[in-house]
Amino acid sequence: DFGETITADMIDDMAAKHFPMCMRNLHDRLRKDRHLKHFGRLQYTLFLKGLGVSVEEAVVFWRKAYGGTMTDDKFNKEYKYNIRHSYGLEGKRANYPAKSCQTILTTNQPGPTESHGCPFRHFSPENLQLALSATYGIPASDQGEIMAAVKGQHYHIACTRVFELTHVKYGVKMGDGLGRANGATETVSHPNRYAARSREMEKE
Ligand code: SF4
Repeated sequence: DFGETITADMIDDMAAKHFPMCMRNLHDRLRKDRHLKHFGRLQYTLFLKGLGVSVEEAVVFWRKAYGGTMTDDKFNKEYKYNIRHSYGLEGKRANYPAKSCQTILTTNQPGPTESHGCPFRHFSPENLQLALSATYGIPASDQGEIMAAVKGQHYHIACTRVFELTHVKYGVKMGDGLGRANGATETVSHPNRYAARSREMEKE
């Protein structure tokens, strides 16, 4: 808990600075298309909940994101309910947890027009390299190890390398992962943990 209110307006900045590639991809797709398909909305809504975004701010965020692409009436009927459902406030009021990497990697495989999932597993190698360059500014010379991890299906290692390379400014070195405890390196296993460690490093 960072003890601060995350408003809808703060999410663009946070996505650019702190989100792992799966969530950054969903965020960018939402901004570009002003829409996400069902499983993308679900993956992203639960992540935002895990980040600490209140249901009220989540509703503001999604309403603004869809903007003029739909009426208030349609939004309230079809989308607001689903957001509140993800927060456990509708239907059977279940407390749905944010999805872990394991769940994202192994359930609801994305189709060609969907944006959910894990880019390390679900992007083509070409698109993944393009995203590493364009979104994260990782030069081709640093991409070899990431692509080798992907090829070996060690997606969490690939994601951890991206974390390391994009947190050098906070003193993170290759092999440091999300941090070290008892001599062991923590690797990425949950998108919310990735974002939380990134936010902690900015404040340290
Ligand atoms: Fe997201 Fe996990 Fe894939 Fe990283 S390894 S992009 S956190 S699903």
